Amino acid sequence: MKPQADESIKGRSGHGLIQIFTGDGKGKTTAALGEALRAHGAGQKVGIVFFDKGGAHYSERAALDKLGVAVAACGRDRLDPSGRFDFSITDEDKQEGEKGLEFAKQMFAQGFDLVILDEINSSVDLKIVALGQVLALLDQKPDNTELILTGRHAPQEFLDRAHLVTEMTLQKHYFYSGVKARAGLDY
Ligand code: ATP
Ligand code: MG
Repeated sequence: MKPQADESIKGRSGHGLIQIFTGDGKGKTTAALGEALRAHGAGQKVGIVFFDKGGAHYSERAALDKLGVAVAACGRDRLDPSGRFDFSITDEDKQEGEKGLEFAKQMFAQGFDLVILDEINSSVDLKIVALGQVLALLDQKPDNTELILTGRHAPQEFLDRAHLVTEMTLQKHYFYSGVKARAGLDY
């Protein structure tokens, strides 16, 4: 399929577009982290809001802190000490989602070159965050802020507004062979 040209951005340079990494295969969050690394290396101001990722399980945070990339996280810690994952969606999740949107607004106000909203797609799909609120946020995005939205099940409204959509396709994942998430590789 030949990608359709978007006349509204023809000849455009600099930051300000919307990118989406979605799909069932592995690589969405790590692709966004790769972009963050690259942008940081280019001297750009980078901020990441991790949605639905409370708890201290995520190894990338230590590296981002060392680099000086702005990180804000919201969400409950879904893992109990035995490693069991809590899939329920509670009012607390929704309150945490609101906090995440607030972090994003602050990053918009502070003139970040690149803002990543990690797991925002899945958070909308799971109704942790209201679609309308995210669409309102997208309307507030400064012209020169590049935005990356990650997570499974990106809503059609996001896909319509994006200038890049990459779908990670699941072909194989060791998870289905009983290999549990591994530190430094999966989290
Ligand atoms: P990563 O953070 O590794 O880039 P991701 O952001 O694409 O993964 P998520 O849907 O956010 O994937 O899931 C995060 C975790 O689930 C990671 O530990 C990842 O290895 C694992 N994972 C990714 N895709 C699948 C899949 N299709 N089945 C099972 N586990 C998966
Ligand atoms: Mg992810």
